[in-house]
Amino acid sequence: MATLDKAYKEIEGIIGSKYITEKDFMKAAYSRNVDPAFPDRWADMIVKPVSSEDVSEIVKIANKFKIPMVPRGGGADLVGGSVTQGGILIDLTRMNNILHINEDNYYCEVEAGITWGALVSRLHDKGLTTGVLGPGSGFSATIGGGLSNSTAGFGSTKYGVVPDICLGVEVVLPNPQGTIIRTGAAANKYAEPFCRYGVAPDFTGLFMGDVGTMGIKTKAFLKLFPVTPFKAQRYYILNKNDYNKVYELLHRLRAEVRDGLHDVLVVPLITMQLLASLVENKPNKRPRLKGPIFSILVEAMDERILDVYLEQVENIMKEDAREFEMQEVDLDATLSRDWKFNLKYAYNYFNKYISVAPPKISCTTCHKVPISAIPDVAEKSNQFDIKYKSEFPLGSISLFATVIFLMPNGNCVIVGGFNADNIDEQRETSMKMWHKKLRLQVRYGGVHYWLGEAISQSIVEADAYTPDFIQFFKNMKKSVDPNFLLSPNKFHMYNYEDEMSRYIVKEE
Ligand SMILES: Cc1cc2nc3c(=O)[nH]c(=O)nc-3n(C[C@H](O)[C@H](O)[C@H](O)COP(=O)(O)OP(=O)(O)OC[C@H]3O[C@@H](n4cnc5c(N)ncnc54)[C@H](O)[C@@H]3O)c2cc1C
Repeated sequence: MATLDKAYKEIEGIIGSKYITEKDFMKAAYSRNVDPAFPDRWADMIVKPVSSEDVSEIVKIANKFKIPMVPRGGGADLVGGSVTQGGILIDLTRMNNILHINEDNYYCEVEAGITWGALVSRLHDKGLTTGVLGPGSGFSATIGGGLSNSTAGFGSTKYGVVPDICLGVEVVLPNPQGTIIRTGAAANKYAEPFCRYGVAPDFTGLFMGDVGTMGIKTKAFLKLFPVTPFKAQRYYILNKNDYNKVYELLHRLRAEVRDGLHDVLVVPLITMQLLASLVENKPNKRPRLKGPIFSILVEAMDERILDVYLEQVENIMKEDAREFEMQEVDLDATLSRDWKFNLKYAYNYFNKYISVAPPKISCTTCHKVPISAIPDVAEKSNQFDIKYKSEFPLGSISLFATVIFLMPNGNCVIVGGFNADNIDEQRETSMKMWHKKLRLQVRYGGVHYWLGEAISQSIVEADAYTPDFIQFFKNMKKSVDPNFLLSPNKFHMYNYEDEMSRYIVKEE
């Protein structure tokens, strides 16, 4: 019997024939993430374990037969992270239970394959929230995917990225023993998982943003917060298109409104013009859009405090902007004074910014920069797009930012990219320009978050890591994955002997 057949039979013996498949239509269904550049990639088999013990047994079998593995949650990745050409694709979405909601001590224990939508709805019924509610894709994306991708989303201006609310994880290491460990307070077998630091070094961090290269997360322990009852949203449009002003205003909002800020988004002028042209129900007379739009969402425990926050926002914005309503460009939009938070909003509002000009999908280049760098990186990015205009795939639109999202302290997420047709003839061009643009961002000091394959490889190509860092990274990975089986290809790591420096690309 061939190796793969033997492995298949052994895994089938563990999880049952219903939860393993090598059928073509299933491989096809699992062959893509949301991007136009990667070709379809078919795993050798797809498995759906239901427990950490199952995952551990699968890992042991993979090691026995030296078969690569890639973990997958909702598969909503944008950069090729949760697909594999060959090997075992481990779908964790059967592990979708909420194990414990601790209302006394504000934390919860969940299985890694539960979606954000499912968890957050249950919590909201109890007046609780995770603060950052996971990605815009949260109706299908999982907690495990959010932790592995260092996801930012609704609530990130106040609560940070998903790893910031993580108190620890249970992980199956990809070693021949399929070792199961717990991190954070849960590493103390006598303790509840109520805090992250203090039992040992912060090994939780080893698995955050690792894009599934260091272990397979099976459980997560997350912080909880009481739901803040009063929320309000306001829009402002700047009088001119000036990123220096954008920086100044973000800085003042952070300094003066602080914890009142739940989400601050800046929609660049070009994005707003594009969105305005796409809406179905346009007003007869449309405004002259002169600058970026600020969407500012504040929250407070008391309505009077909310009013103070709104007054502070108005004071900061009034010199350089006027209050704006989305109804000025879209008659179907809600007036900001009528706006009410609901979960559909949290998982829908961001989606229009992910693809710059739907229905095409984007080669996304979302990354973080310090807010003071916004004017400079906007210029660099625009210069790049002009210089290489003819090299982008035919008919694509490249944008420095479709939206800029304020994060805690003084950093921001720049959501951007270029869109392309999902067709074979354009894949090579799309992939080439994707990596080239990503390398530019890495070299101007940008820091990405979902790394998958496209971004993690571009970081290596940009020569961002020192040789000592690469050696450290390899040593760490070797200690958990001695046979190099988990998520090969990411970070241009194919084995431990290969010199990663040979993937460095010197720009012409
Ligand atoms: C419409 C849309 C909107 C989006 N909005 C956002 C957004 O607002 N913010 C944002 O950050 N991202 C966003 N994304 C990107 C992506 O959906 C998120 O990063 C999301 O967190 C991925 O979760 P997932 O469960 O789908 O992960 P997957 O796509 O399944 O996996 C993502 C990565 O994590 C690894 N992984 C998954 N589960 C595990 C596990 N249990 N253990 C170890 N590794 C694992 C995979 O190998 C892969 O590398 C969006 C995508 C779309 C399509």
